[in-house]
Amino acid sequence: MCQKCTAKHTVSTQRRGFLKFAGLGFAVSALPAYAADPVLPKPDNVISPDAALDRLIKGNARYVANATRPADHTSTRAALAKGQNPYACLLSCADSRIAPELCFDAERGDLFVTRVAGNYVTPPLLASLEYGTAVLQAPLIVVLGHTSCGAIGAAIKAEEGAESFPGHIQNLTSDLAPAVRAALKTNPTDLLQAAVRENVILGVQSLQESTPVLRKRVRAGQLKVVGGIYNLENGKVEFLNL
Ligand SMILES: [Zn+2]
Repeated sequence: MCQKCTAKHTVSTQRRGFLKFAGLGFAVSALPAYAADPVLPKPDNVISPDAALDRLIKGNARYVANATRPADHTSTRAALAKGQNPYACLLSCADSRIAPELCFDAERGDLFVTRVAGNYVTPPLLASLEYGTAVLQAPLIVVLGHTSCGAIGAAIKAEEGAESFPGHIQNLTSDLAPAVRAALKTNPTDLLQAAVRENVILGVQSLQESTPVLRKRVRAGQLKVVGGIYNLENGKVEFLNL
């Protein structure tokens, strides 16, 4: 089969997969692993999981050094009007100080970002991440926590019985309680830092193993799930060795 013919099949398969996801059934098994397709809006984003992680690491280094690249908003907006192929998905805390596109020096169309206070896996976010990886073909998911996370701090206070919170915030602290309990075993002397770390680890493990869509892609080498912690003081993201 010629390369041109392969490319046409790739487009057809991806669009078919999207339509099925939208309303006719989610047939992700038909999707290719790494679609090298010249009509994708960002062909440079069709890369391996390790290359995607390396790109994030280098982008964060530029951000830390205050040496981010200038953005051409006009040309990227036109290219992305008809589609998207991000190279990484994020499960980030909603904290306003994080800003994933900024801290990885990424452009629009590069990162498929999901956010919730406490950066933990919820069913709606899980569906979004499945879409970002199985349909949009992003090869990497980063669970991104951060230092001094207020949501984790609230979960610690709730676990200690020191404070209750109004509305649905109490529910959030309950969802984050497993990370606090894990941290009490590993590093109770610096509970906040340890719970932030344990929460990221739990998120990574959950995404790697708990859903058939993601698990299949991880085991096939099509997807990597990693954890990172953003340092509010200097902007550096520490990627965890799990
Ligand atoms: Zn936070």
